[in-house]
Amino acid sequence: MTAQPYPPSGTAPSGGRFAAGTASANAAEPVLQSYEIGHPTHVALIDPDTAFWGLVHRDRVADVTAGGALLDTYHDKAQAFATEMDRLRFGLKPTAVYFNPTERCNLNCSYCYIPETMRRDGSHMDKAMVLDALSRLHEYFRGHMPEDRMPQIIFHGAEPLLNREAIFAGIEAFKDRFRFGVQTNATLLDEKAVAFLTANNVGIGLSLDGPAPFIADRTRHNWNGDGVFDAVVRAMDRLEGYHGYNVICTMTTENLPHLTAMVDFFHEHRVPACMLNVTRCTLPGARLVRGEDDAVAKAYIAALERTHQLYLATGRKLVVANFANILIAILAPTARRLMCDISPCGGGRSFFALATNGDLFPCSEFIGLPTFIGGNLFRDPIEQVLDSQPFRLVTGRKVEDIEPCRTCAIRHFCGSPCPAEAHEMNGGMDKIGAFCAFYEEQVRYAMRLIADGRHGDFLWDGWDDGTDETVAIGCS
Ligand code: SF4
Ligand code: SF4
Repeated sequence: MTAQPYPPSGTAPSGGRFAAGTASANAAEPVLQSYEIGHPTHVALIDPDTAFWGLVHRDRVADVTAGGALLDTYHDKAQAFATEMDRLRFGLKPTAVYFNPTERCNLNCSYCYIPETMRRDGSHMDKAMVLDALSRLHEYFRGHMPEDRMPQIIFHGAEPLLNREAIFAGIEAFKDRFRFGVQTNATLLDEKAVAFLTANNVGIGLSLDGPAPFIADRTRHNWNGDGVFDAVVRAMDRLEGYHGYNVICTMTTENLPHLTAMVDFFHEHRVPACMLNVTRCTLPGARLVRGEDDAVAKAYIAALERTHQLYLATGRKLVVANFANILIAILAPTARRLMCDISPCGGGRSFFALATNGDLFPCSEFIGLPTFIGGNLFRDPIEQVLDSQPFRLVTGRKVEDIEPCRTCAIRHFCGSPCPAEAHEMNGGMDKIGAFCAFYEEQVRYAMRLIADGRHGDFLWDGWDDGTDETVAIGCS
């Protein structure tokens, strides 16, 4: 077998386009596919079913696939990898909840997945309801989680701090039983709120889409159209030195040319971690600011490279958490935090979402789509909700049933997100979502970093504490 030339010629326009062929010493054995990662000297060999992979020098592909350490190890471990992957994909129970204590929001961002009527006129949970909900959730988690592991509650929205008194009461009462987080637009994050949240070790996620008001305010603004850049930067300054916070930047047509400057801005403000997220295209409004895959990939990789330059220049990392999770998915598939990058995705499996009236959805992305209500926390047993038809529709969506994912070499590093997006934008769970070509570029870039030995610079220090090394073979 020969490696493809780089750049690859005659590539198909859909996923799996960089797979060059298959390699096995014996037709009865499991199969490794040669996968073009765009590296000058190395290609990847991947078994798509188990997510086993190796990086091989282009000149040695034929030798390596004829036999030797990589193939021997693979054949020894293939069954164990398949079992682990199967457990990760189909054997999990939820350990986290995205908890929406209000439907209302004081902003009207371009790509929000919560319908406008809810955000304008929706309801709040009162304090008693928040406490009751936390109590029910705690009882559920204790039924299957070990005593020494705390489940996680992330107050999410809409804007959870519009219902601050109730959620702070919940944190106060349950801080020994849950790890808490708050995802907020930062406009209500005053000194007192920061003092309370940091004193209680609450994870805090903010959102900011640009390094200057004229960029950031295009997508994130209030109902009058006034931007909130200044308020978010004030909150970032208040949080300086707190390691439990991050900032999400959603990549849209409005900020793509400024993504590298965004990374500079985050680093300058000593943000410990950020996320550079694609626009989720579940609702039509978001599709209006969706960038083309190639443009998004180019800007994203340039921004990641910039984080590396900044790290080399200053010794201080700005971890791009969503990319770090992809790297971990490749390096240690079972150590990743399951969100969108595994199939079936984390929605309804490793977490679920609680709406303000108690309705339960597989993921916040489905709030606003009533056909995906699986039941109600205050009326139905959670086990029953997890097994409901709307939940099974999401948890049953797997890459094997989706064209072109079923033949894609990186299907267990990508996961074919997102079911909500696929269903609403492309008409079904067996359809692909948006950004297939972006996801493929992301994995190819991650593998190039590994080939160059630079990947550790993009991960949190100590990311692999507590993980076991099952295979360690140098690049061939
Ligand atoms: S969406 Fe992901 S798994 Fe599906 S074809 Fe594209 S890169 Fe592959
Ligand atoms: S892929 Fe979509 S439904 Fe699944 S976890 Fe991600 S956002 Fe939620």
